[in-house]
Amino acid sequence: MAEITKNSVIDALRNVDDPDLHKDLVSLNMIENVEVDGKNVSFDVVLTTPACPLKDKIKNDCLEAVKKDLPDVGEINIKLTSRVTSQMGGEAIIPGVKNTIAVASGKGGVGKSTVAANLAIALAKEGAKVGLIDADIYGPSIPLMFGIEKNPQLHKNEETNKILPLEKYGIKVMSIGFLVDDSQAVIWRGPMASSAVRQFLTDLDWGNLDYLIFDLPPGTGDIQLTLVQTIPLTGSVIVSTPQDVALLDAKKGLKMFEKVNVPVLGIIENMSYFIAPDTGKRYEIFGNGGAEKLAKELDTKFLGGIPIDPQIREGGDQGKPIVMKEPNGEHAEKFKNIVQTMAAEISIVNMQKNNSKVEIEM
Ligand code: ADP
Repeated sequence: MAEITKNSVIDALRNVDDPDLHKDLVSLNMIENVEVDGKNVSFDVVLTTPACPLKDKIKNDCLEAVKKDLPDVGEINIKLTSRVTSQMGGEAIIPGVKNTIAVASGKGGVGKSTVAANLAIALAKEGAKVGLIDADIYGPSIPLMFGIEKNPQLHKNEETNKILPLEKYGIKVMSIGFLVDDSQAVIWRGPMASSAVRQFLTDLDWGNLDYLIFDLPPGTGDIQLTLVQTIPLTGSVIVSTPQDVALLDAKKGLKMFEKVNVPVLGIIENMSYFIAPDTGKRYEIFGNGGAEKLAKELDTKFLGGIPIDPQIREGGDQGKPIVMKEPNGEHAEKFKNIVQTMAAEISIVNMQKNNSKVEIEM
């Protein structure tokens, strides 16, 4: 019978694959601090994101694998931790920031900013360090959604001499709306918007962030294209409503990201359906399943659907997005599932990028 040693524990764990990354945990450097005390063993599993959707499965697979190889084992103590990956190995892609995600939409009014705000909060609730940049020059609505006044006092970090973003609900926030009136921002052109965003990236002290989310202006024109070429992006997420016209625009969004080689992590369908509060009956106001079909057709992920609900609008208008307002509610649960799938996709994209870099170097 195999002796219980650090090495035999590690060997047992070579049989456990990360279900998303399709490699074993030992090769992925996800096993740390293996300790053996008599028959008892303990180790850490370092996940690639705190928002890992398969935490429980991975933990269970580890338990089973150790028990199978080492039937005499006593207690098995597994600690799940995380170290968010980036496409530069472990390094940041912009100072302090490991991953950047653009939230885009083919047209306005589909709930892109609402989704961006709730994605940011849902990711932070999972334990990630998150920032949000509102780059929507046509209607910077993040200050309203976060209940931050239009012209807030910004402070400097005296040590770095850089401006500190504001902090609300555990998210670091910066908005084009802090700099100019809405009426001015709409006349901005692509180079102006991208130079403002570039300044946000270089002149602000973001500290260490796992994910920085960009709420892009809606559409797929010159401004959006300039922006997605300016920001070093890990990936993008497209928000659409279910009707055909919106989906057609969503498709254009996807093509825009393809053109500039930014991976599309998936599509989110907002205003997917409506549940009547009095009868509980479900109405497919804008049709059904359109975004899911589009995701299949375009070979990207369907990240999930969010219903139309006055509570979601009220949350935004009152400066408290629904995930913050009702943290244990059904909408928060939906956003949690979406960010978990999105974070897993980011880990996959990062691993693919890093692997291809190794091949090029060799
Ligand atoms: P966009 O950024 O795409 O222009 P917004 O996020 O500003 O869209 O949303 C437009 C309006 O729709 C806002 O008043 C917002 O509160 C509302 N809204 C967005 N998503 C939903 C939803 N799922 N249910 C109800 N209202 C929503």
